[in-house]
Amino acid sequence: MSTSNVVVKLEKSRKQRMYIFFAFTSIVLALVLLGVLLIQLLLKNERYEIENHITQVAKQSAIAVNVLINGDFQTLNLYAQLIEQNPSLLTDNYAKQNLKYTIKNTRFYSVGLVDLDGNVTIYDSQKGFIPPINVKEYKYFQESIKGNRYMGFLGSYYDNDKLIVLYSVPVIINGQVKAILTGAHSAQDYTNAIDITAFNDEAVVHIVDGEGNLVLRDDSPYTLLQKSIFEYNDVPVGKKKKALKATQPVSYWFKDVNGVNKVAAFIPIGYNNWKILAILPFSSISHNTNSILRYTVVFFLIINLIVIIGARYIFALRQKSTNMIMDIALKDDVTGSLNKTSFYLEGEKILLQHCTDEIKLAVLVMDIDGFKIINEVYNTRTGDDILRKISNILSKNLIENSIYARLNDDVFAIMCEYQDDDELILLIKNICDEINSIELNIKMVPSFGIYKLVNKDVPINKMIDNASLAKRTIKGLVDNNYAFYNEELSLSILADKEIEAEMKSALENGQFVIYLQPKIDIKTMSPCGSEALIRWQHPTKGLISPNNFIPLFERNGFIVDVDKYMWEQACKVIRSWLDNGLTPLPVSVNISRIHFKYENLVDEIENLVNKYNIPKSCLELELTESAFLNNEGAVNSTILRLQELGYVIAMDDFGMGYSSLNMLRKLPVNVLKLDRGFINEATCTQRGFIVLNHVVQMARDLNAKVVCEGIESSQQVSILQSAGCDIAQGFYYAKPMPVDEYNNFVYNNGKVMG
Ligand code: C2E
Ligand code: MG
Ligand code: MG
Repeated sequence: MSTSNVVVKLEKSRKQRMYIFFAFTSIVLALVLLGVLLIQLLLKNERYEIENHITQVAKQSAIAVNVLINGDFQTLNLYAQLIEQNPSLLTDNYAKQNLKYTIKNTRFYSVGLVDLDGNVTIYDSQKGFIPPINVKEYKYFQESIKGNRYMGFLGSYYDNDKLIVLYSVPVIINGQVKAILTGAHSAQDYTNAIDITAFNDEAVVHIVDGEGNLVLRDDSPYTLLQKSIFEYNDVPVGKKKKALKATQPVSYWFKDVNGVNKVAAFIPIGYNNWKILAILPFSSISHNTNSILRYTVVFFLIINLIVIIGARYIFALRQKSTNMIMDIALKDDVTGSLNKTSFYLEGEKILLQHCTDEIKLAVLVMDIDGFKIINEVYNTRTGDDILRKISNILSKNLIENSIYARLNDDVFAIMCEYQDDDELILLIKNICDEINSIELNIKMVPSFGIYKLVNKDVPINKMIDNASLAKRTIKGLVDNNYAFYNEELSLSILADKEIEAEMKSALENGQFVIYLQPKIDIKTMSPCGSEALIRWQHPTKGLISPNNFIPLFERNGFIVDVDKYMWEQACKVIRSWLDNGLTPLPVSVNISRIHFKYENLVDEIENLVNKYNIPKSCLELELTESAFLNNEGAVNSTILRLQELGYVIAMDDFGMGYSSLNMLRKLPVNVLKLDRGFINEATCTQRGFIVLNHVVQMARDLNAKVVCEGIESSQQVSILQSAGCDIAQGFYYAKPMPVDEYNNFVYNNGKVMG
């Protein structure tokens, strides 16, 4: 997965999470809103119901009062009419006297007759005739004297603490008011008439006049008003006034001084602009609704809770799986450190944060020479353990704002700040010291390539490439374990690019030529074979040594074509010897480890040998131990197969690596080509000589021939002889040479110096 892909995917999943979060938030909000709306609706409906209910009940009270009033006026009117029809009743005082009989047929507790001067004769059903009183100042007198009927509440004239309802109607004779007839009730009758017993007796019912004064006050304990509805500013005055003026029932909600929600209903009575005012607390009738509301709220709370818990659960699950995917995608599975992808991502963040030029950054690439041997000699579990230890060492040694990752196999990368080169070198030294202190029988040699950032716009993969190039320059060097990337390196890269541009045409144009270096039988001192070594006969640059292009070809895979070409050249040479009647000496060809990745090596070789019809024994095959290391299973079976077919297999550069002996345990190679270092060591030190002797002895015991490479002096020859070595190859005898020269050397000279 490329870095940009990961960034895009991360961004996509971040957006997805955001959308899901918004969706869930919206659902929760919508549910809350729906709940609130539903509650509102329920409340509204409930209020409407209550308003309706109280209005209806209060209407009954109004009707009851109305019936009372109508009945009382009718009674009084009946007697007024009686007097009007018999005016003499007034003059002979009969009417006054008759009051006590009149009262018997009415519901009044007192009746009275007022003369035009305002003197009233009252007969009380219990107290009998009351001494005359003048009522000129009373409103009922003033109204009825004008010919109007009147009804009103007032204090009793003779029963001081008693509130009464007083009716008065004029007695009109010949169009003139001649007297006023009155009748009185106890106000209690009206209180009883308007009393609403429903609603737990919490309903308060007053009769109010057009100005809002309480004409008849309900003295229940729930009553707050004393005299007027304007005593409290609980409802806008305008609203109250409007209710007083209305000819239809009106109701409104308000909060009383104690904060209790109440409904007030005004119902016109039809007299004196009076109204029944019924007041009811919400709680008295909303028990039902309250529980419905409670259930609704609880229901919505539960639903919301479920949604929220569900959302959290889903989020947590998603997060967990995202974290898992992230771990898989972004963490190294062996060490738990960053991997290549996350190194790129984190590296880009560091580059963004450190955009100032004052801060110096470097990218280091490290690998361990011979790490593969650990897996080989021990097992991959031990290898993984070592990788984890190395990872811990890196993490311990890195300063803040630094990152490191395992890029692959045993390759680690570091990005860190630094002040000067010394700081980086010290960091490397510390890491190396700690790695070397890991207890293991195999010595681990870390190599570092360092790329100091000059331009932060260079892509991170390029930085890693540059650091890796630097590292490659010290590969195999014992005394140096770090190298800085520099311009020269980039020049060598340029040179590599040049080679790469030319290599294909060079192969097609036959610029690659075969050189043969003779091998000398030490006992007979005569040539016993040769090694085919490649040279590039460049038209402008002259003869180029394989060291300048073989490593590059191995990296870019071109070695596969080049080797095949060389094998064919070797076969052609052998063929030419045969054709010329010469006894062919075996030619060994080099087989790069890369073949084991791509090719069916056995078929390739077989085809060539068949094509040129040469004896198999004439073509020896040289492999370096790195070939065995990389792809052990496949290599072993291929080699065994080639041996079965009759080819001689030589292990090249034996002793240079770490696992040569290990290889020997598994593969019965026919020839050991001892590395130059062996003979050099044997020439200089006693120990080296002992080692050489024993290696030769061991090869003998394994039925393998020993070829010593790099023989440069007669002294070395005598050492070889005393060690019992079979064959020597080196400049002392002959350098690699063109085929013509070789023919001359072998077939014309016959013997070499001894
Ligand atoms: P090698 O296969 O180990 O070849 C032996 C190298 O040792 C040759 O270097 C040879 O010139 C050098 N040599 C021989 N005697 C002496 C000596 O007395 N002193 C010193 N200092 N060197 C000596 P050369 O030809 O430069 O090749 C270098 C390496 O390149 C070879 O090492 C082999 O690994 C690779 N190579 C050469 N030709 C081919 C080829 O056709 N295919 C592949 N895959 N690799 C090749
Ligand atoms: Mg070789
Ligand atoms: Mg060699």
